[in-house]
Amino acid sequence: MSSIALEKVVKRYGAFEIVHGIDLAIDKGEFVVLLGPSGCGKTTTLRMVAGLEDVSDGKLSIGGRVVNDVAPKDRGVAMVFQNYALYPHMTVRQNMEFALRPLKLAPGEVDRRVRETAAILGLDALLARKPSALSGGQRQRVAMGRAMVRTPEVFLFDEPLSNLDAKLRTQVRWEIGKLHKRLGTTILYVTHDQVEAMTLADKIVIMRDGHVEQVGSPEDVYTRPANTFVATFIGSPAMNLVPARLMGGKLQAEAFTLPLPDRFAGRTAEGQAVLIGTRPSDVTLTAADNPGALRATVEVTEYLGDDALLDLRVGLHEMIAQVPAANRPGNDASVHVTFNAAGLHLFDAATGGTLL
Ligand code: ATP
Repeated sequence: MSSIALEKVVKRYGAFEIVHGIDLAIDKGEFVVLLGPSGCGKTTTLRMVAGLEDVSDGKLSIGGRVVNDVAPKDRGVAMVFQNYALYPHMTVRQNMEFALRPLKLAPGEVDRRVRETAAILGLDALLARKPSALSGGQRQRVAMGRAMVRTPEVFLFDEPLSNLDAKLRTQVRWEIGKLHKRLGTTILYVTHDQVEAMTLADKIVIMRDGHVEQVGSPEDVYTRPANTFVATFIGSPAMNLVPARLMGGKLQAEAFTLPLPDRFAGRTAEGQAVLIGTRPSDVTLTAADNPGALRATVEVTEYLGDDALLDLRVGLHEMIAQVPAANRPGNDASVHVTFNAAGLHLFDAATGGTLL
């Protein structure tokens, strides 16, 4: 039985539909990340699960029970917001106790849960402080603590790291990952940051314009993207896409011809317009006399430390290569490159769908 199930879930505001019939099954204990660009409907979807937005159409279940008409407090979920939403006039302890009020527990049980949660999150020494006397990372931990004391079946996170600086973001990201391993609670987590999604998720749900584009493990969506949207959204710098046509069993692009890798045999038709996809790390520098070497010009070199990014022009095509920084060519250098055939992707040019 799924912990959370969405069946053809739709959200409309008046006549305007923004979530278009999403299907999604989340297993008990799974860490699922909703990932997508701004405005794609991830927060709205999360808020429907929380009960903060009505479901316009379709069925939403939590723990096997349809909850479309169940009040937020009775859904067994706890949400951690982007802005923490702590009460400024209350201490850390009072903020956590307040979250337990609707449960009407005995005072001893309230105290036990607050102390246990504070211990797990390392908040023991901060219980008497007010939020104004805490750092951003500590506030974020209190916000998590407030969700945890209720021992919910499901945690919902809405961009919980977006108000933290880069260093703290990495640290709290680790903490959230460790917490999930320790507690094993089902988590649904919204972000537009692919690093958060790739590092935390068991399963990533990639959304665009109110639709689900692909659901899969981080490795699935990186190595087997379903379409060009996912291929270019996941991975930084983005996958290079070069238009080509299948001619005489070869991939004929404007400036070069590549053999069609065997795995695509039977999946493409003669004359079909395609997009060849290569990750920047699969574009490598090579000697001019190597078979398959393509002449390229380096427009710009960007030094990153271990690696460098080369903004290349190969004939009419622009592409990015990620190469070891040692011995990197300079701006305007003339070089030769090859593409790693094992890392080559092919998409239908008309639909953007993968041809694998
Ligand atoms: P972000 O990362 O920017 O938060 P998101 O993917 O979470 O984006 P949502 O906040 O779910 O996106 O919004 C999806 C779409 O719904 C947006 O186009 C937004 O303008 C619209 N929207 C959200 N709330 C309302 C509302 N109350 N009335 C009308 N439209 C809304």
